[in-house]
Amino acid sequence: MISDVFCKIIKGELKSDAVYKDDDFLVIKDINPQAPVHLLIIPVKHHFSLEDFMEEGNLELLGKALIIAHKVAHQVGIAEKGYRLIMNEGEYGGKLVPHLHFHLLGGKRLGPKIVK
Ligand SMILES: [Zn+2]
Repeated sequence: MISDVFCKIIKGELKSDAVYKDDDFLVIKDINPQAPVHLLIIPVKHHFSLEDFMEEGNLELLGKALIIAHKVAHQVGIAEKGYRLIMNEGEYGGKLVPHLHFHLLGGKRLGPKIVK
């Protein structure tokens, strides 16, 4: 039984601040925001990694993740000035929750350095 924090949120066992939800994706506010707007785009079905996700043939869903990022960026008002979309993968990528997700950041001018 997989019970990472995102699966618990999706099952309703943990509270979250959701800004978007459909059958495939949930978008919530990061509890430790790194920018004025910091959202997490999370596939509803559990996948550990991008590799798992693609092995199951979820290429359309991968495209949908980008479409949702665009849609939510408009919804929260960061589309016009711009935003950053990031995925952390694996130990060196700094992934903290073992459930595939994307970070959507904006609300201020982000520096040119993606890593520090
Ligand atoms: Zn999960």
